Amino acid sequence: MRYDVLIVGAGHGGAQAAIALRQNKYEGTIALLGDEPDLPYERPPLSKDYLAGEKPFERLLIRPPAFWEEREVALLLGRHVASVDAEAQTVTTGTGETIGYGTLIWATGGRPRRLGCAGAELEGVHTVRTREDSDKMAAELPGVETVVVVGGGYIGLEAAAVLSKFGKKVIVLEALDRVLARVAGEPLSRFFEAEHRAHGVDIRLGAQVECLLGQAHVTGVRLAGGEVIPCQMVVVGIGITPAVEQLLAAGAEGGNGVDVDAQCRTSLPHVFAIGDCARHANGYAGGDAIRLESVQNANDQANVVARTILGQQAAYDAIPWFWSNQYDLRLQTVGISAGHDQTVVRGDPATRSFSVIYLRDGRVIALDCVNMTRDYAQGRKLITEGIHVDPARLADPSVSLKELAG
Ligand SMILES: Cc1cc2nc3c(=O)[nH]c(=O)nc-3n(C[C@H](O)[C@H](O)[C@H](O)COP(=O)(O)OP(=O)(O)OC[C@H]3O[C@@H](n4cnc5c(N)ncnc54)[C@H](O)[C@@H]3O)c2cc1C
Repeated sequence: MRYDVLIVGAGHGGAQAAIALRQNKYEGTIALLGDEPDLPYERPPLSKDYLAGEKPFERLLIRPPAFWEEREVALLLGRHVASVDAEAQTVTTGTGETIGYGTLIWATGGRPRRLGCAGAELEGVHTVRTREDSDKMAAELPGVETVVVVGGGYIGLEAAAVLSKFGKKVIVLEALDRVLARVAGEPLSRFFEAEHRAHGVDIRLGAQVECLLGQAHVTGVRLAGGEVIPCQMVVVGIGITPAVEQLLAAGAEGGNGVDVDAQCRTSLPHVFAIGDCARHANGYAGGDAIRLESVQNANDQANVVARTILGQQAAYDAIPWFWSNQYDLRLQTVGISAGHDQTVVRGDPATRSFSVIYLRDGRVIALDCVNMTRDYAQGRKLITEGIHVDPARLADPSVSLKELAG
């Protein structure tokens, strides 16, 4: 078996790479190989409306089933690539099947990090990355009164919002002194902490998990300091480890992810990498080598690779954007706030409709907009053009960001 383009990982990036190749009239053979049994589907609803039971799985599909056959994209699902031979241009699956490629696109995302303490493998301890994960959680929920969520990042907070809506008692344990500390400024963290508390969620900051308790099934969480929180479910949302060990073993450069250039080429010949697993120099992070974990990044990198394979000029320089839904709040983020030296709050958080604007050296580098789509749409230009703005005018909601962008 050999394909002109073999895509490993049938998630957001992998699916979009196949779609973009066919959209751009690529005529070679394409296979999309993934270790999950399902057709490519959207991951964000797994901690939002799919977990809440408000959206059926069929509506998560990135394309309807017939699409892949019509576009002649071979789907090799339920198969895990165990190794890559970059010289022979082959991959080998866990069952020993060898598949050849002309070009390999590595789009494997990452595995959720697990707790390193005792009890981490007990039943009732969940991570949220796949449909299977979300289904398992939902199936256990009827027998659950109290859930401990470990990690106050987006996925943990989204899960907490859904679980509290189900009437569960939810405790969020965050090791740092505020939620969303790695991705947002303090005003946004404090706003979301207050919102969750108003919905009855117990947010504990500076909380260190010592171990999980239970024989077969989890019965509680012991904190450093000795306090035990009884619970019937634990949800762990503490980030991912990029799934790149096969590429690194084959000689690709990388570490925390696999290193790629502006066309998403790895250091191995004929091998690209995209999405959560691809570490790239990002202009919106001051040129630093970073990985982004977002649908935008996976899709835009997939498009760059498709055009590069087709011999077109393309370079990854898309502005990062992201969203999160919690309760009736829609957060929309654009740009990268890391490295900011000033924060401006635009509007009153008490109205539940406001933006946090991040500046570096007097230029806007990112916005977090809560129920404020207008700022999100109009603020992009401030970032892309690197415009110097008076913070006092930015803070004034009567002055539109469009006006400030000129
Ligand atoms: C619960 C949740 C909520 C999220 N919410 C948002 C959001 O609101 N907004 C947003 O922008 N982003 C969100 N994200 C992040 C977003 O889903 C990811 O950034 C995106 O899916 C990355 O795409 P990808 O193609 O890199 O990886 P994935 O979509 O994870 O796809 C990778 C696929 O490769 C498979 N795979 C891995 N290793 C192998 C192997 N060796 N062989 C075969 N297959 C393999 C994996 O099982 C998986 O199916 C969320 C993620 C999760 C988990």
